Amino acid sequence: MTPSDMKETLIQLGLPAAAQVLEQIQARAVAGQITYAEFLADVLQTEQADRRTRYLDTRTKLANLPFHKRLEDFDFSIQPTIDERQIQELASLSFIPETSNIFLLGPPGVGKSHLAVSLGLLAIEQGYSVYFTTAGKLVQELMTGYQEDRLRRRMRRYLSPKVLIIDEMGYQPFPPTAANLFFQLVSARYERSSIIMTSNKAFGAWGEVLGDPIVTSAVLDRILHHAYVVNIRGESYRMRERKAAGMYQSPPIKTQQLEDKR
Ligand code: ADP
Ligand code: MG
Repeated sequence: MTPSDMKETLIQLGLPAAAQVLEQIQARAVAGQITYAEFLADVLQTEQADRRTRYLDTRTKLANLPFHKRLEDFDFSIQPTIDERQIQELASLSFIPETSNIFLLGPPGVGKSHLAVSLGLLAIEQGYSVYFTTAGKLVQELMTGYQEDRLRRRMRRYLSPKVLIIDEMGYQPFPPTAANLFFQLVSARYERSSIIMTSNKAFGAWGEVLGDPIVTSAVLDRILHHAYVVNIRGESYRMRERKAAGMYQSPPIKTQQLEDKR
């Protein structure tokens, strides 16, 4: 077998990364710098590392995240109402096997989506399936599925991931029947898989969002049974940056007080 035959064979065997580095590692072996065992280990490790990267890339694409910000990029010092230890605890991901939910509540711009996405990225790295959507998009998809009599299929996308991130709950009120579909989703995931939800509304105001007090209490009853709540009461990060650049003179800020209704 010539070196190029070997390369071709590795590709045919589905080991493209190994094929890529074969010549280079072989050259080191010939130069007597590595043993036979080290040679094979090098080739295998290259393939394995490449495979993991590709696997994570695929999982990350499937997760539909709007951006890829990490927990390390989050500056806790400017957001004192967040307990960093609580977030680090959540970052251990024990909430996933517990099938607990996470709620990130607070006004716009305080980092709710950033934190949700960074937890999602950690979950992907630990091999969990993740899917990101906004409440608006979710409702629209479920409504269309319902109207076209394809609800089960539509629902599957939101039921199968181990971690479902629902961003921006409460920005728009749900249309009639949507609350019921949302309840179906929440019940089906209850004690099976986790939801990370961000909202600008305290739980007490969810009735206005869902539009039906009975469905609202049934939804809250399920999703809050096993849940971690992070209340953020700070100032918008975007506004802070603008102010630092001298581009914005702030009006007196009225901070919305979000209370944990549990
Ligand atoms: P929210 O979802 O609460 O409206 P975002 O998570 O979208 O806020 O945050 C707005 C922007 O500010 C994002 O680009 C985010 O990465 C950034 N940001 C917010 N808080 C922080 C922080 N504490 N450290 C670093 N970046 C932050
Ligand atoms: Mg957001």
